[in-house]
Amino acid sequence: MNKFLSRRSFILILIMPLLKFIFKPNKVLASSSASQEDWNLPKEAWKERLTPETYYILREEGTERAFSSSLNEEKRKGVFHCAGCDLPLFSSDTKFDSGTGWPSFWDSLKGSVGTKVDFKLIVPRTEYHCSRCGGHQGHVFNDGPLPTGKRYCNNGLALRFVPD
Ligand SMILES: [Zn+2]
Repeated sequence: MNKFLSRRSFILILIMPLLKFIFKPNKVLASSSASQEDWNLPKEAWKERLTPETYYILREEGTERAFSSSLNEEKRKGVFHCAGCDLPLFSSDTKFDSGTGWPSFWDSLKGSVGTKVDFKLIVPRTEYHCSRCGGHQGHVFNDGPLPTGKRYCNNGLALRFVPD
């Protein structure tokens, strides 16, 4: 019985992306509410401010293709800002090469991001977003390096790098 159940779960995990593609369930949007009034912009205003790709990530919790961002290779000193509202989110001091194909950090700047749990891939994941405009940035995992053990896996398109 157990064996049957575990095999069934395994198959379910395998076909999930396909089911998601077929049914296109309603999205759970973290990014829909901004913490500060000024950044509670209507959809149309965001569409004017952002490229379609960046809109998809920041406002619809999209994910860019792995290894598609030039920020993967960015090794200069500087600060990574939110591409939506320009709030500083990450310092280059906490950037590391995770090998995942997305810019990765072991810590965020204090108070710069908010989190929520999402179940898009069934298994709960911790989504994080810009604390000012609510723009989706990525997901944070507990398999990062010391001192925090966190891995902030960020969409490159959701960031703007400002070198020192
Ligand atoms: Zn922002």
